[in-house]
Parts: sequence; C-alpha cells; structure tokens
Amino acid sequence: MMPRKSRLRADVAVVGKGPAGAAAALELARRGARVVVLDRGVCRPTLGESLPPGATPVLRQLGLWERFLSGGHAPAYGNRSTWGISDREASDFIRSPWGNGWQLDRRRFDRMLDGALREAGVEIGAGARLLECSSHGGRWTLSLQSGGVVQQLDAGFVIDASGRARRLTRLLGIGRRVYDRLVGAVGVLAPVGEVCDARPGIEIEASPDGWWYASALPDGRLVAGYMTDADGETGKRARTSDGWKALFDQTTHLRKRIADHDYRLQGPLQRVAADSSRLERFAGDGWCAAGDAAAAHDPLSSHGITSAVCAGTHAAHAIAADHPVDYEEWMRHEYAYYLAQWLGYYALERRWAGSPFWQRRHRALEQLQ
Ligand SMILES: Cc1cc2nc3c(=O)[nH]c(=O)nc-3n(C[C@H](O)[C@H](O)[C@H](O)COP(=O)(O)OP(=O)(O)OC[C@H]3O[C@@H](n4cnc5c(N)ncnc54)[C@H](O)[C@@H]3O)c2cc1C
Repeated sequence: MMPRKSRLRADVAVVGKGPAGAAAALELARRGARVVVLDRGVCRPTLGESLPPGATPVLRQLGLWERFLSGGHAPAYGNRSTWGISDREASDFIRSPWGNGWQLDRRRFDRMLDGALREAGVEIGAGARLLECSSHGGRWTLSLQSGGVVQQLDAGFVIDASGRARRLTRLLGIGRRVYDRLVGAVGVLAPVGEVCDARPGIEIEASPDGWWYASALPDGRLVAGYMTDADGETGKRARTSDGWKALFDQTTHLRKRIADHDYRLQGPLQRVAADSSRLERFAGDGWCAAGDAAAAHDPLSSHGITSAVCAGTHAAHAIAADHPVDYEEWMRHEYAYYLAQWLGYYALERRWAGSPFWQRRHRALEQLQ
C-alpha cells in the first residue's frame, strides 16, 4: 500500500498544465481564486508546432506577450502547401492585422507558462497524476499520485485540461464524438552538414492516403510528419522508419527539400493521435473541460494551442461569473465553425477520388451540409 499525505484544498483544481490549463489557472488566480494545477509531467513529443498570427491578441490578452517575445521563438512569415494541385503555393501573413506567426520552441513556451503560473501564486503539483475523482455535497475529492505517494485534493470546481488523455472527463464518464481517425508518424530530422533549411513556417503536401507536413525548429532541425488514418494500409507502413522513409520519398517538394539539405532521421518516430473529436458536453455541475481534452483539432489547422488558450480563458471567465452555460454555448459554436472550415479544406483536394482517406472526409462534409 502506498503512503498517504495530508489533504490539499483549492477553490479550483486544474488537471493539466498545457496551454489550456495554464490559461484557465492564470485567469482564475488573478481573480483571487486559490488554484492548484496538477500535471503528470511526462515528456511531450517534438511536433514542430507553430502559432498563426491570430495567436498574438490571445497571448496579449493573457498578459504573456512580452514574455513570449523573449522566448527564442522564430518569426514565420507564411506557410507553403501542395494541396489540390501539384504546384507548391505560398500563403504569406502579410494581410494579417497581427503581422507574422511563430515557429515555437515548445519547451520554452511551456516553461514560460510555468513561470507565469508561479508568479500568479498558482500552486503546481508537478509530477502529480490524477488517479480518481468523486464528488460529495458540491465538492470534489481528487486522488493524486506523486512520487509513489497518494494524496487527496479537495476542490470546489475541477477543470479537465489534460489534453487528449482527458483523464478527468473519462473518469466522469462524459462521452466523446469522434469525427475521424487521423494519426501521425512524426520524425525529427537533423542536418548532417553545416547547411540547414531553417525557413520558419509550416509546409504541407497532400499525398494519396494522407498528407505530410514539415516544420523547421528554431534550432535548425526539421520535423516531418505523415498524417493518415489509423486503420489505413500506409499508416501501418509508416510505423517503421524504413516504411516512413519510403512513403516520404514519394512526396514531390518535401523530398527535394530534405535531399537538398541532407537531413537524417534522428531517433525513433513518434506516433501521435490527431483526430478531430469533442466531448458530448463541455461543462456540468462543478466541472468543465478545455483544450484538447474538450475539443481536439486536426493539426492541419495549426490552431490547437491558440484554441486551447482561448478555451481556458473562456472557461475561467464563465467559472468566475458562475455561468458555465455560457462556456458550453461558446464551445459548441466554436467547434461547429471549426468542423465546417476543416472539412472545407479537405474538399479542396480532389486528385485521389478513389482513396478511402479522402473519400471519408468528402463524405463527412456532405453529411455536415
Ligand atoms: C502532429 C501534431 C502537430 C501539431 N501542430 C500544431 C501547430 O503547429 N500549432 C498548434 O497550435 N497546435 C498544434 N498541435 C496541437 C497542440 O499540440 C495541442 O492542441 C495543444 O498542445 C493542446 O493544449 P492542451 O493544453 O489542451 O493540452 P496539452 O498541451 O496536451 O497538455 C495537457 C497536459 O495534461 C497533462 N496530463 C495528462 N494526463 C494527466 C493526468 N492523468 N494527471 C495529470 N496531468 C495529466 C500532460 O502532462 C500535459 O502537460 C499539433 C498536434 C499534433 C498531434
């Protein structure tokens, strides 16, 4: 039996210290709430995330803009895509009212969130994994495991911001609507010689059974990911480095970009879930969910982090106003808008009409209309 420690108390307990949990905790702590954030703290895969220009007002509103600017992230002035036609097209951010986007150093971004939380007086249960939760008389008891010790946390309100793990809402038995089975096989590529292609911005290239992305990290390495359906043939092939490389060699522009700069795969591939899915309900009596735990997006949108911060902020406002219904409605509206945009983008690619990957998405759009 594991040793037990004394009971912690909080007005609000937040499970997960990613962008959603951090935004919610910061907003609530600044309003005077006693907030405890728990995070199991496992190492996250290197995905080469970027932020679109629209992230600027969101970070400003959260009071993190100055910190963000000194975080070593690389400005990105546009993206490139090969989608719907065989030529590569560039879309630049010049028309955005917020200027450029950013290529993130995700570790430093997470460290920035951590620093802001500590300054705001948020208690952080680092390395604390949520095991169980129950409610009695309008309060919650969470069981946490931290360093072999089980501890109880008593809270008035709980937020699930545990990302795709959605640990808390799973325990509460909240159902989920899943719109596709997208998964990614993601590799980090390091330049062999002195020359690297450090051009920031995401590049995507559609392929017969999915699509590829490449993203330059601020340190000169490149992240490349193959996105396809979990049950498809190429998804199985992409599980091994050889299969992944063979599929990569079938791309047109990305293959050339890697060959020109002599990049080599560094370490094992990471297999990540990337489906679009949402909870049946985003909030209930004394609880709500934010970020990927509530509603997950296709990485094609590059909006996961911005959406997570927005959701965390909105959740905090609704909790502070004691009006979670507002949050439920806002989330429903946001996700319905996302679904239409998302499937609309897949509808632009019609070159592989016989491919189950593309057919599924085209059919889903017809059903949505
Ligand atoms: C291939 C790929 C590429 C992507 N590219 C981009 C991009 O370019 N731009 C972009 O904006 N987004 C991108 N995303 C999405 C982005 O990474 C996520 O949307 C974002 O991190 C979600 O934030 P979050 O706070 O909801 O969850 P997370 O950042 O996942 O944080 C969840 C936290 O909960 C903790 N946790 C989990 N379980 C428990 C538990 N039981 N107890 C305690 N803590 C727990 C975890 O340790 C973690 O710290 C990409 C995703 C993928 C898969």
